[in-house]
Amino acid sequence: MSTESSLRAGIVEVGRRMYARGYTASNDGNISVRLGHDRLLMTPRSVCKGFMSPDVMCVTDLQGTRLQGDREPSSEMLMHLEVYRQRPDVQAVVHAHPPTATGFAVAGIPLDRAVLAEVLTTLGSIPIAAYATPSTEELPAAVGKYIKAHDGMLLANHGALTVGSDLFGAYYKMETIEHFARISLVARLLGGENLLAREEVTRLQQLRGAYGITAPAPICPDPPAPGELPSGGQDPATCQVVQAPAGDGLRLVPDGSVPRPPSARPRTDDDAEIRLTYRELSALIEDAIRHLR
Ligand SMILES: [Zn+2]
Repeated sequence: MSTESSLRAGIVEVGRRMYARGYTASNDGNISVRLGHDRLLMTPRSVCKGFMSPDVMCVTDLQGTRLQGDREPSSEMLMHLEVYRQRPDVQAVVHAHPPTATGFAVAGIPLDRAVLAEVLTTLGSIPIAAYATPSTEELPAAVGKYIKAHDGMLLANHGALTVGSDLFGAYYKMETIEHFARISLVARLLGGENLLAREEVTRLQQLRGAYGITAPAPICPDPPAPGELPSGGQDPATCQVVQAPAGDGLRLVPDGSVPRPPSARPRTDDDAEIRLTYRELSALIEDAIRHLR
């Protein structure tokens, strides 16, 4: 099987898996892959990704001119072209609307908490590209802001985008994002995630080389503490913003940013929330006043 025919078959298979897993509905989503150094193989416009055949794909150049194929290329072609323009290392681009990850994108919640080792080693953090009207020039501009430093991102009120050094690598990152979103949702329903400490995140990022994973960008330096001057190092175009608090020797740190059930709170957490009735609060105040007298 030639390279081109195996890539056509690969796009058919990735489309079938995305549709079977509910990452796309109807004609949603699009997939592309580099075909040599100056051409792309891309899904056509208005086709259900679950039922494609190898012959429906379009061949375009890197400016988006159709060179081969009976159908128009994907309506999101401009977004794909922007990725290939900025990332010479990227061989494939996958876009879908997986429901849980897209729920986070709709709620405006990035998947940037240090929670799972496999996510930190493969993707790092998953930011949200600003809302843009699909199929317009706005979308490549929004994606362009993050693509140099990230292999996966959410698209506000739209879906998700992943890239990779081969077609299935890009697709598996889409699976990882949706899986991570589902786990994050369950953890938040159960009271919140315990975060991996910053030291552990650094250790995991250093292990990437051992796993043969190339990371697009390092983790950003710590944000400045209140009253501290910003270091200017929190630019998502050049590094990855990851929520990972200092662990003081711990590898897991309770997340204080979300309410937690009493059973999950460590006894020594001085910042933990407590709840008092008005009667209890009044009794405490009366007691304090009595001691003042
Ligand atoms: Zn879309």
